[in-house]
Amino acid sequence: MSDFDLVIRGGTAVTAADIGPFDIGVSDGVIVAIGERLPRGREEVEARGLLVLPGGVDSHVHLDQPFSSGADIADGFDSGTASAAAGGTTTVVCHAPQVRGGSLAVAVAAYAEKAKQARIDHAFHLLVNDPTPQVLEHELPALVEAGHRSVKIFMTYDSNRLGDAQILQTLAAARSAGALVCVHAEHHELIGWLTQALLAAGLTAPRHLAWAKPMVVEREATHRILALAEALDTPIQIFHVSGAQSGEEVARAQARGQKAWAETCTQYLVLDEADMDRPGFEGAKFMISPALRSVADREALWQFLRNGVIDIVSSDHSPLRYDDPRGKKQHGETAPFNKIPNGVPGLAARLPILYSEGVAKGRIDLRRFVDLVATNPARRFGLAPCKGAIAVGADADIVLFDPERRVELTNALQHHGSDYTPYEGMTVQGYPTATYQRGRLVFDGEHVLAQPGDGRLLARGPYAEIAPTGHFPTPFDPFR
Ligand SMILES: [Zn+2]
Repeated sequence: MSDFDLVIRGGTAVTAADIGPFDIGVSDGVIVAIGERLPRGREEVEARGLLVLPGGVDSHVHLDQPFSSGADIADGFDSGTASAAAGGTTTVVCHAPQVRGGSLAVAVAAYAEKAKQARIDHAFHLLVNDPTPQVLEHELPALVEAGHRSVKIFMTYDSNRLGDAQILQTLAAARSAGALVCVHAEHHELIGWLTQALLAAGLTAPRHLAWAKPMVVEREATHRILALAEALDTPIQIFHVSGAQSGEEVARAQARGQKAWAETCTQYLVLDEADMDRPGFEGAKFMISPALRSVADREALWQFLRNGVIDIVSSDHSPLRYDDPRGKKQHGETAPFNKIPNGVPGLAARLPILYSEGVAKGRIDLRRFVDLVATNPARRFGLAPCKGAIAVGADADIVLFDPERRVELTNALQHHGSDYTPYEGMTVQGYPTATYQRGRLVFDGEHVLAQPGDGRLLARGPYAEIAPTGHFPTPFDPFR
């Protein structure tokens, strides 16, 4: 009788240690052997000609969460995690949103109830919208202890944003509790001022979103949050770096020895501001926050991926329907840019696009690709060693990926709840042909086989990556 429930045989495996022709042996949902010519398993999968990769970890996803604009999000956990599986992603980190004036703990409990529909494994960022003493001193430490080891804060949006004093209190509380703070960094008042000036000048088209949110808006806020985090010696993760100037701020913080990290998202690597200028209302399909930038910014982001300043690529999956009065057309097709909800879907497209534009086009190598989409997000968010790598003892979350297959991206291939993809018609080279979670086939190349409820809520313990450095601007340690 075989020791293995499953052997994936003959592919080119990207393991934690090596890249080579290794067979992967799986028992009880866990990788138990990596080697050449493993004995037969009860189930045998032929992977010749395919890459064998760790399942993608998408550390910035929005599912079943209210939009600040009041529009309806197009994906709950059911459809959203189907989309993940169809794109080779086996773990998502979503946002459990506190309502202003309400309890964070109650919000997390309600969100966990919604997440019971998830088809794949998932974890939560604690989205702190109202950092009251009750939340910071009592609820947050208990939630972190219960396994929710990341906090999300916003510096903009009326219903989300925290002022600098609140940010400092939240950074301090997260540091003490042992959670990583993730930030949406944009200068709120500057966006508001520019928006009013643009509307007064009659500049109201979708593309003018980029004029209301120019790079300086993001650069200033990125600099500010990095400075606050530095002063409190609090590790920080900058979400959706969209261009050169905010990436340079992160690079400077890293050069100072700060535990400052950053992600960018698929859309900033392949789309640009010209997409918001498509005819009619089509530009609304590309309205996101931060806004799409210039071609030069796009190229700068690829350079940050190569030199490691940015070491995670997420989707920031924020799905809206396009042709829908509860979606992009909430205020009709003639709405000014500030009345059109922001966000694009992208869970399923993340791996194919980053592989095609990155590895197939020679911008990054295969190892860096795997680091960006799986290994680094798993490590950064306390999901390693179970997630993010092909290694003995890790969960058997595995993607078989055909590096030669050419696919024209369509909305149907995304398996999500939105009625469009911003990548419609884009041809990619390289595509997932099968996705496994804990040794079970969850996507067969055509159909999502995982069912609602199959996914597990992952509890995260303390981990070294986000331990503070112990360095403060002066000899004074305010936490002692
Ligand atoms: Zn987001």
